[in-house]
Parts: sequence; C-alpha cells; structure tokens
Amino acid sequence: MKKGLVALLFFVMWFALFPQTGQAAAGGTSIYLDGNKLELSKNGQVQNINGSVMIPIRVVVEELGYVVDWEKKTRTVTIQQQDTVMKLVVDQSTALVNGTKIQMPVAPKLVSDTVIVPLRFVGEQMGLSVSWDNKLKTVYMVTPPTENGGGEASPGDGGDTGSTPGDTDSGTQPGQTDNLANIGGISFSDNRLLIAVDQTVTPNIFTMANPQRVVIDLPNTKFADTFSTGQNLDSTQNGFIDITDYPEVSKVRYSLYSNNPSTVRIVLDMNVVKMGELINDNDGLIILDLNKEVSNPGSNGKKLVVIDAGHGGTDPGAISVTGKKEKDFNLSVTLKVQELLKKETNIDFVLTRSSDTYPSLSDRVKIANDLNADLFISIHANAGSATASGVETYYTRSESLALAKVMHKYLVSSSGLTDRGVRSKSLHVTRETKMPAVLLECGYLSNKSDNAKLYTEDFQDRVAAGIVKGIKEYLGLQ
Ligand SMILES: [Zn+2]
Repeated sequence: MKKGLVALLFFVMWFALFPQTGQAAAGGTSIYLDGNKLELSKNGQVQNINGSVMIPIRVVVEELGYVVDWEKKTRTVTIQQQDTVMKLVVDQSTALVNGTKIQMPVAPKLVSDTVIVPLRFVGEQMGLSVSWDNKLKTVYMVTPPTENGGGEASPGDGGDTGSTPGDTDSGTQPGQTDNLANIGGISFSDNRLLIAVDQTVTPNIFTMANPQRVVIDLPNTKFADTFSTGQNLDSTQNGFIDITDYPEVSKVRYSLYSNNPSTVRIVLDMNVVKMGELINDNDGLIILDLNKEVSNPGSNGKKLVVIDAGHGGTDPGAISVTGKKEKDFNLSVTLKVQELLKKETNIDFVLTRSSDTYPSLSDRVKIANDLNADLFISIHANAGSATASGVETYYTRSESLALAKVMHKYLVSSSGLTDRGVRSKSLHVTRETKMPAVLLECGYLSNKSDNAKLYTEDFQDRVAAGIVKGIKEYLGLQ
C-alpha cells in the first residue's frame, strides 16, 4: 500500500543536534528548523487540534526554499519541491501528492490569514524529522543529512545470551509489517535519547549492570525502511552512536533484537548508574531524559516491584501435555500484571522481559538489585508427574517468607487450583536478589486438568489480579 508515498517517506533522520531550547514565550509557540527558530506571526502559532499538532505551512516550506502558492478562491495551498507537487485544501483531509490522494489525520485549517496543517504530514511528505515538545510548546524539524557517518558494526545487545537477533525466529510475515511501528530515527542530544516512531509504542525500560547499561525494548517495532539512509545501521540490523559530549553515556547501540514479536532494542552504555526519565506522550517521540532522575523507579516514594516472566527466548521452560511452552504462559500473565500495575499510582514496576527474550538469571537478579527494588516476583508454571496438580510459592531467604505467604494466599484463591503450599528452595533468582523475592508456580503443565486452564484468558486474568492484590497487601497499599 501507499507505494507512491514510500519514496517520499524519508522519515526521520536525527543526526542534527537539537539546540537548547529557551523558554517559550508565555502562550506562544516555537518552531525550530535545523536549530534555527522561525518567526511565527500572531495568527501563525502552532496549535493542537484533536491531538494533532498543526503548524503554519508557509513559514516552514518557505524556509526550506520550496515554492508556495495560495489560491484564495479554491482555498488551496500548492507546494512545489523539485519533482513533487502537493496540494492541500482547507477543511479537506485528503491531500494530493503528485496526483495521489493522501489522507491526513486532520484537515488543514485557515486561521485568519494563515493555513495550518498537521505536523506529521509535513514531516512525512518533506522528509523531515519532526517532533513536538508539549511542555515547551515547541516543534523541532530537522532536514535529513546528505551523508552518513558510517562506521563499523556493533554487536546487538542480547543480554548475555550470545544470541544474534533473529536467529531463532521465522521473520516477519508479509502484511504483518503494517502492524509494526517504524523507528524512524534515534539520536542523542542535550543528554537525552530521542526515538522517533510513527505509531504508539509502549517501551519497556530497565537497567543492567557489569557493564552498566540502560536498556529500552520497543515491542512491535522495526527500523523504518529509510532508517539506514539517515544513520548507521548495518545489514544485520545493528547500529550505534558514539557519545563523546556527555560524560554519563559512552555509546548508544540499537538492534532488531527479536523478530517475533519484532522488537527494537536500544542500549545506552553508561558510565554511571542512572536510568533517567522516560517521556512518552505518544506523539511520535519517545525521550529518555538523563537530565532528570525524579521518575527513576522507586526514587519517588513509590514502591518498586520487579516482575520476572520466567524463561523466554531460547529457553521455553516446561512443555505442556499439549505441547505449549511455559515461557508463553509466564509472559502472558506478566503482561497482564503489567497492565494492572499501570493503574496503581503508588507502585512503579520493571519487567525483566516484556517479549520473547531470555535475560540470564543473573541479569534478572541484577535488574532488581541495581534498582534497589522493594519486591521481586517471578512467574512460572510447573511440570512433574501427570497427577501432580496445583500451585506452589517458593522462597529462599527467610526475609522473603512473609511475602511468600501473602502471595501464596492470593495465588491459591485466584487460581482455584490445589494448594501445594509455600516451599523453601534454593533458586537463583530468589536466592541472589537482595529484597523479598518469590517464585510462583501457577499450576502444572504436565497435568491435563491444570494445563487446560492455564492458557485461558480467564485463568490468566484471575491469577494476574491475584498477584497484584498480593503485592498491594504486602506493601500495605490496600
Ligand atoms: Zn519455570
């Protein structure tokens, strides 16, 4: 689809460093094009209409050196850029680009004598990287670079598993690409990591130690087709940016970490222990701001819970009597817990994995220990004899017993399965963590009756809710 458009979609090239932005004038808005502030008239301010950022078209395209023409009678703006002719009509949400109809999220509007159009449309059609800082009421636009720094390949950060991105999976199916968000660009400036995306993305951020890293997984994403024209990305879908101007970060690496689900991973090699604040306004730009630490998980008075979906990636865990994999059950319940925890204003959480990946056991422990988490909950399902059935809660260190009892109470009631008790066992993740830690076995995949329930939405919803209730009770947040 949109074949003709693809050539125009130069998308986002984030090589230019953004300028330090001054305070926006009270009530006023700003547009920076390649670091230069454009003069906006009183009527030509940036506006937010139904969630779409709208910019005055003339000032921008004239600055770019394009020819702009306004026909008052038909209320049509014609923009000519080399071989491309764009026609926009006020109050019509369909634009014509070289005769091809392009749908815009919001129709152009006439404000006094100024036509404003959706920022995203301008970016896509003119090959600009665009972003909107809602706090500063500032639009940033960057024209693509004409050459690329290039450089050697960098290894994808596969945790410590040694796996190459994509080596286990079947690859993206044709047609599936439409559901994936495109990563248009990745850049680092003002001590901030900037990620341009063309759809809503829910990132998963965590830290790893030895060496210190901040990891951002972007589920259901891929690199835009045009990504490599603007920046360093090799044929194995790996790239990096050397950071020299900011002492806290030495390098930003990125790779297509998983094909199924397609996940882009960005790793910041850190010189300090820090996580920064992740800002995601779902407006096409995800920012990790290392100037801010206020929202570090757990550092804001909130409790921090680490949820660990057992196994993953190359490690399927137990295989059920019907051939299903434990890792999928664990992840599914974990993601349901995540959704519920998002609604809890007093709890921050970090997942050790949010997709089909395998952080090593020591990685999982390090995430929790480095963040000084308050709780660690590992989610599993068990396997044993065909007759074994029910739920168990494991702990190792005595300071975890109280948590184990509370979590087990809710695991039994929410699962409706046989109570096989709270058990003490020396398991890596419950032993090496430094906070109360438990491992939940949510039923037996080797048992026909348990197994038939474990993969149902209803069972998983109930168990996830039970886990969150247990966390809240233990933390005294009920
Ligand atoms: Zn397991």
